[in-house]
Formats: sequence, C-alpha cells, structure tokens
Amino acid sequence: MSGSVPFLNLSAQRTRINSLLKPRLDRVFEHCQFVLGPEVQEFEQRLSHYCHARHAIAVSSGTDALLAVLMGEDIGPDMAVFLPSFTYTATAEVVLLLGATPIFVDVDPETFQIDIASLKKRYDTVLSLKKLVPKVIIAVDLFGQPAPWDELKEFAASRKLTLIADCAQSFGAVYKNRKLGCEALATTLSFFPSKPLGGYGDGGAILTNDDEKAALYRSLRSHGEGKERYNVQRIGLNARLDTLQAAILLTKLDVFEQELQKREEIARYYDKHLPLNITPPQRVPYSKSAWAIYCVTLESRVKRDSLRQTLTDNNIGSAIYYPKPLHFQPAYKKYHDGTALPVSESKGGYVLALPIYPDLKDDERSQVIKVIKKWAKDNS
Ligand SMILES: *Cc1c(COP(=O)(O)O)cnc(C)c1O
Repeated sequence: MSGSVPFLNLSAQRTRINSLLKPRLDRVFEHCQFVLGPEVQEFEQRLSHYCHARHAIAVSSGTDALLAVLMGEDIGPDMAVFLPSFTYTATAEVVLLLGATPIFVDVDPETFQIDIASLKKRYDTVLSLKKLVPKVIIAVDLFGQPAPWDELKEFAASRKLTLIADCAQSFGAVYKNRKLGCEALATTLSFFPSKPLGGYGDGGAILTNDDEKAALYRSLRSHGEGKERYNVQRIGLNARLDTLQAAILLTKLDVFEQELQKREEIARYYDKHLPLNITPPQRVPYSKSAWAIYCVTLESRVKRDSLRQTLTDNNIGSAIYYPKPLHFQPAYKKYHDGTALPVSESKGGYVLALPIYPDLKDDERSQVIKVIKKWAKDNS
C-alpha cells in the first residue's frame, strides 16, 4: 500500500529552504537585536512592496493585528462590529476583548465569503434596535480567496462604516488584478505556521495606505510609545514581531510566488480529477486564490463523514473548516440575537479540506485522488 499523505508537511518545506534560511538566522545571532532588529524593517518593506500597500507594520500575530486595528478605531462598549460567523474564532474574539458587540453575518453558499444581503439585513436590525452604534465591518478573505470587496466598499461607504480586512488566510491572493492588501482601511495578516506565508511560531502584520493610522499601529504594537521611547501616548500592547521570525519570513517570502503557483497547480489537479458527486471549491469571480485551504463540498453529512473516514483509513490527512459557526460557540452564543444564519449553520456538515501545500508531491496528490475515486465508486 502507498505511504501516508499528511494534511500539512512543514518539514519538507524546511528541508527545501534550509540553505537559504541558515545565513539569515546566523546574521540575527551575530547582531543580537532580537526585538525590532533590522530584519523586521526589511520584512516590512518587502511586504508593503509585495502588495503595493504604503505601510506594513509587523506584529506578533494575526489576532494582535486585528486587536491593534480595532483599538486604532477606538472600538469599545455599545458599538457593533459586523463579521462573518463562518470564520476562525480570532475574528470575533478581538471585538469582545474590547467590550464591543460582534454582529454575526451569514456567508455565501458557493464561495463561503461574507454575504452582502445578510450584512444589509443585520445592519438594518442593529440600526432599528437603537442600542448599538454600527461602526466596523471585518470582512474575512476566507480559505485563500478574497471577500467581495467592491460590494463591501460600496456598502461601507454608504453607511459610514469602517472596513477592515482579516486576510489571515489569503495573503498572496489577487482580486481584480490587485494583490490583497489595500481593499480596506487596514488589512491584517497572520504568519501562523499553517498559513500560506507561515513562520516558525506566531506572527502577523497590518497593511495600510493611511500614514496616520500606520504611525498609530506602530505605537500600539509597542506599548503606546510616542516618538521617544519612554513617552507613553496611549494604552498599547506588546505585539511586536520577533527579529528571528522576520528573518524566517524574509526567507519564505523569497520562494512565496513559486509556492503559490504550486498550490494553484495542485488545486487545478484536484478540480480536474474529483468525481462528479464531490463539488470543488467555487472561485470568487475575477480573483486568484492563495489556496490556504482547498475545501470540497459533499452531498450530505453522512457522505462527508464517510469520505473523511476512508481518507483517515488510508493515512491521508483532511480537516473540517468550520464544524461549528461562531454564533453557536459556547463563548459567543450569548451575544447573538438568535437570527438564523442558515449557510454558516449547515456548511460545516458538508465540507472537507484536502491536503494542499507546495511540497505535496505528485504521487501524493494522485494517491489522494485514487482513494477518493475508489470511495466514490463504492458509495454511488
Ligand atoms: C489564523 C486566523 C486568525 C488569527 O491569526 P493568528 O496569527 O493565529 O493570531 C485570524 N483570522 C482568521 C480568519 C484566521 O484564519
């Protein structure tokens, strides 16, 4: 029988980039500026250049990036922040940490991105209840694909809402010929190891074209410091990116475009070879995915669970994003008004993420398809 196919294989990538990585790390060990050393600045420049954003501010995680951006908008009690329910917990967590109220919005059944019709309805409800002031939309670029930015921008502008992009999963994706990074007032990135650009630990960044906000985020990530170090202007965070992480991420940025191409190639291979009763991911129009996650849809929960079991039995990794929407989570449900969000509530029962990463070998991806095809034949 063929060997196992892990859901993610970071050690294969490390072996591939080892010779590039070593000299960068050695340089940090030589200068010993472990906090805000020269690599952090170099990484910020490379990041902003990569996606044509005026500023990139490296921070300690994607979650801290979101937190700093919300702090920069003075978000607090009696304010409403709209966000999709079908996302990772961090998107809602930061809202509650600041005492504001998350307003959960449904997602599009085909692309899983935030649904504009649901957003409008949720906004109207908040407005009519007159308890919360609608302030911010955090739109998530989910699974590597972009949110519907043109529609979001139009809606946010018409209601005077601030738009924030949680791009933790989609750095490198393209929307209407633009790399993601400039669609919102601020775009937040995560370099958690499993994201398309992943470090060897936690890391994140904020991208913005706004000069004043950029200075504010720099202050917020470092204890609210002013221009002079011991001149504290505001309540801030210790949310800096380590110099060592910056050195690692610089190395990974060197090979990032190649890796994106590799992910695209694997996605096309899966698209082409999946049996008919398994639906490949639907592309967001006019976009290119970063393929953080390749998520297929099955006809029923029973079939999904059966396929997942078959993959497991054949030592092939898979994952479910997200088994439970945020408004059903024990920590969050008390903040939800009970409105049904049918897509977010049901999708978790039908979806399955397959292995997709640059070091997935040709024989590994064909092994995945072989097992899926056999399962489809046995279960038709
Ligand atoms: C990973 C992720 C985050 C959080 O990033 P961390 O770097 O782990 O803090 C936020 N939002 C989404 C959608 C994510 O996938």
